[in-house]
Amino acid sequence: MCTWHRLIPKEQMDLLTYCRNLPKVELHAHLTGSLSDDTVLQLLEAKEKELGSKNSLCSAKITISKGHQRSLDECFRVFELLHSLTDSLEAIRKITQNVIQEFAEDGVRYLELRTTPKNILGKMTKKEYVDTVLEAMINEMKTCRIMVRLLVSVDRGRGVEDAWSTLSLAKQYLDHDVFKGLLVGIDVSGNPNKGNLADYIPILKEAKKCGFKLAVHLAEVKSCVEETDAVLQNGLVDRIGHGTYLLDNNGYGINNQDMILKHHIPIEICLSSNVKTESVSSFEDHHFPVWHALKHPLAVSTDDKGVFSTTLSNEYYICAKTFNLSEKDIHELCLHAVEATFLPSSDKDILRQMVKDDLSKLMGKLFLGRMTTNTLKPSTVLEICTPKELS
Ligand SMILES: [Zn+2]
Repeated sequence: MCTWHRLIPKEQMDLLTYCRNLPKVELHAHLTGSLSDDTVLQLLEAKEKELGSKNSLCSAKITISKGHQRSLDECFRVFELLHSLTDSLEAIRKITQNVIQEFAEDGVRYLELRTTPKNILGKMTKKEYVDTVLEAMINEMKTCRIMVRLLVSVDRGRGVEDAWSTLSLAKQYLDHDVFKGLLVGIDVSGNPNKGNLADYIPILKEAKKCGFKLAVHLAEVKSCVEETDAVLQNGLVDRIGHGTYLLDNNGYGINNQDMILKHHIPIEICLSSNVKTESVSSFEDHHFPVWHALKHPLAVSTDDKGVFSTTLSNEYYICAKTFNLSEKDIHELCLHAVEATFLPSSDKDILRQMVKDDLSKLMGKLFLGRMTTNTLKPSTVLEICTPKELS
């Protein structure tokens, strides 16, 4: 009879449970892409009532219900669907509340949400959109154990004029009576094959001058070497989104890599997103370990947790499992994310202390190995599985 069992001492946790208990910081989360399947189904039903038709949204429901099984094409269809469902201020309020609650339930202590303000004729202005998101953030912070800040997104596919108007809107919140301090930065995102990032440099310079921090999706595709050089050489990036093709062997100048290392520009790491969109062929081929080996600051993030059917706990789990991270490595990742936030130093001090306190309570509780019944006292056994399940 086989005596092997998977036994976890009572005081310890398996890796996924441990990741769920980590005090996490989420820095790369697009509001609309973060909607859970439940929220999308609620919005679909509301839309059906509005349109008085069930059939037109039937295929959308099937796509949503596929969850983890979605193909790349279906992921993009979900993006389109989400934008069509979020065309009222009521929907914007609801999705903001739900997304914040879901991150809080996943153990996220600090969240930087990003979103592109929408202007829909007869339904909302960009300002009403941002006001609604900020109001919902304030409400949720009263009831959930989470701190939330906002980045407004500049969509590189919408042109420079639209970006200037988004920046001038963002400026209105710098000294706002109610919302001051909540809008901390600008995100530059959108289809990397559309527009040229270099055209946005004057806007980014102006944003920096106003005191906004900049998170820029950078080097997402192989063909954007020149624009990446231009933005980095101008010292305009406070955090890099993805940075998939930044390393030398992809044709990028070694100067860029040196500059990123020298200025400790944090990189937002979105493993599931990169693999599901096929910008990286597998978790094992991801650029995370290269930067991690150089002790560069990295922030594990979800990107679009709804579209890619993930959570931040799951991203930490994938990262730790794929790259064989130790408990100390995992704790360092949590703390690196704190340092990479766009919070002012006094708020960052509070967050750092909170994260450190929670991490110290977890120290030593990660179960890393397998044990036999002979090495454990019966009272410590939490979970037993059959030898078959171990293979
Ligand atoms: Zn993104």
